[in-house]
Amino acid sequence: MKKCTVVGQGLAGTVLAFLLQRAGWHLTIVDRGHEGSASAVAAGMWNPVSFRRVSVEPLLMSSHPEMAGVYRAMEVWLGERFFFPTPLVRVFPDQQSANLWDEKTRRPLLSPLVQPVPPSLSPHFNAPFGTGCVAGAGWLDVPKMLGAARAAWMASNTLTAESRSAGYSGEVTIWCTGAAWHAEGAAWRHAVIPNKGQLLQVEMDGPALEELVHFGNFLVPSGSGGYVTGATYERSFDHAQPTPEARALLSTALEEVYSGPFAITGQTAGIRPTTRDRQPLIGPVEGWTNQYLFNGFGSRGVLLVPWCAARLVEHLETGCALPRAVATSRLSART
Ligand SMILES: Cc1cc2nc3c(=O)[nH]c(=O)nc-3n(C[C@H](O)[C@H](O)[C@H](O)COP(=O)(O)OP(=O)(O)OC[C@H]3O[C@@H](n4cnc5c(N)ncnc54)[C@H](O)[C@@H]3O)c2cc1C
Repeated sequence: MKKCTVVGQGLAGTVLAFLLQRAGWHLTIVDRGHEGSASAVAAGMWNPVSFRRVSVEPLLMSSHPEMAGVYRAMEVWLGERFFFPTPLVRVFPDQQSANLWDEKTRRPLLSPLVQPVPPSLSPHFNAPFGTGCVAGAGWLDVPKMLGAARAAWMASNTLTAESRSAGYSGEVTIWCTGAAWHAEGAAWRHAVIPNKGQLLQVEMDGPALEELVHFGNFLVPSGSGGYVTGATYERSFDHAQPTPEARALLSTALEEVYSGPFAITGQTAGIRPTTRDRQPLIGPVEGWTNQYLFNGFGSRGVLLVPWCAARLVEHLETGCALPRAVATSRLSART
């Protein structure tokens, strides 16, 4: 029988374990709890289009078609809804950005992802330079998906709530421990770079928004009602808790674009697992037998994890090479 241990049941470990389970692997999942993890606070938005360059990275182009099938299959398995394709409206910050959008989105690569006529935004949004719209966007209620999967795996005695230390082990073990790898991983610990992100939970009067909104920061529905806005990107930080500075920054940014009343009802923080080249890190850990890394999803876990998990399962099953852009072998090549 194909046996494997998945350490970490954040977004990465959950999707990977689901695909392994579907492929017939006998699983043990170990997770010490979601507190402080990136997935516990993630807004869950996915958007394949980079707004700065108005372009789509090849990795995101590959990942986008595979994503929906995986999350839909997880919804069927768990009997819950947590995957919500929703248009994303971009509020242009200036005329140059609006012109670039018009020019680039006519190209064949981008045109299927955009919506030519954006939905009309609430009149409370200030958009003097207009708006564009990504049709191929949406949001995943990450905490709901993780909670449901955890309950199912605990009921089947597949998951145990404990901490596991990185190190040599004879059986196939896949480390999906997010930014904690930086603190605990013996091999390549510096390859995963912690980056703190903070969000505000807000309530807004009036009818519910029918779209996600991006204005430099984003505004996304929250699974517990209301919306979340964020996020900060903090490379240096002393602790993982929310700060008053981030609250002021995020609140001011929302006030600048939204003239209607809103109330801040909460603030959360988590640590993203980022990498130097902004690409995930997947594959064998050098020098450790049967040990694999599945990490480095930065701020794009929702979109990247399903495709990357499918590639790792194929690799484990057939021995086929992992795509070079995401493979851990690029770390060995660097040293
Ligand atoms: C504020 C914020 C907003 C975000 N918004 C978005 C967004 O809108 N869209 C998007 O795609 N991404 C977003 N992200 C990024 C997203 O959260 C990450 O890409 C993703 O959640 C990473 O998942 P992970 O499973 O790799 O890591 P984590 O979520 O950190 O999970 C790691 C898990 O491993 C467990 N663990 C760690 N060490 C051990 C150990 N030794 N033994 C046992 N268990 C262990 C932890 O408890 C945790 O459950 C956001 C991140 C933040 C911080």
